[in-house]
Amino acid sequence: MQYALIDGRRSEAIAGARGVCATCNAEMISKCGPRVIHHWAHARKQNCDPWWENETPWHREWKNLFPPECREICHIAPDGEVHRSDIKTPTGIVIEVQHSAMTDAERLAREEYYGNLIWIVDGRSFRKNFDIYHLLPDPASDLARDLVWFKATRPMQGAARGLFWRLSENPGSSKTTNSCVWIHGIGDIEDEVNAAYRGHHQYDWVRPRKTWLDATCPVYIDFGDEGLVRLEIYDASGLSCVRRISKRNFLHDVMVETSARAIGTRFYPIG
Ligand SMILES: [Zn+2]
Repeated sequence: MQYALIDGRRSEAIAGARGVCATCNAEMISKCGPRVIHHWAHARKQNCDPWWENETPWHREWKNLFPPECREICHIAPDGEVHRSDIKTPTGIVIEVQHSAMTDAERLAREEYYGNLIWIVDGRSFRKNFDIYHLLPDPASDLARDLVWFKATRPMQGAARGLFWRLSENPGSSKTTNSCVWIHGIGDIEDEVNAAYRGHHQYDWVRPRKTWLDATCPVYIDFGDEGLVRLEIYDASGLSCVRRISKRNFLHDVMVETSARAIGTRFYPIG
């Protein structure tokens, strides 16, 4: 953990120091070796929060993007269940930064417990399994309402470049029907798509970590560059997509919005 209490004050680990855990009041010892990120550990037992994940430099970098008073925040549910979130913003959004794999049961328990929660998933280990394909127009645009896209996958390189059909050319059809239709390529409408672009893309995740596809709270993947991608369902066809959002905009929004779902709803062009 990044913090323990020394004489009642939150303190980062100092070599040789002793403190107490702000959650369970147990004794904590500092770990300040040359090859570990400096941290605190419970002296006599496992971490008091079974949801706690050992901190990696990636965790610490994320926490350090927020003011100290937003990090490692203790929560007590009405029934007395206690957990400690990685980050809680002043507007009440909880952010959990997750490096390891997680079971569906734990994900659901944490989503239910925190409610107004955002996941940030460390995607660096599966980046090579995650392809991001062509732009999609803003799903709220008139253009998007008329188009039905073929799911892009790694083996289907045609659809990966952007294939669609139009409801307006196929009377009686809907986004969920799959009848014989006239197929177009995205090249026919490139300017329109560019004009209506708000960060959405098709993608394919080979051997996905399925729990994140089923999440009920917003999931952002950090591939270690300047942007994040959020997993979304694009439209009534059920097409999955990602939406790109810059870390700068994410960090801005999460400090001012009150709902986890409102992050990135105002679009700022990247660059
Ligand atoms: Zn504790």
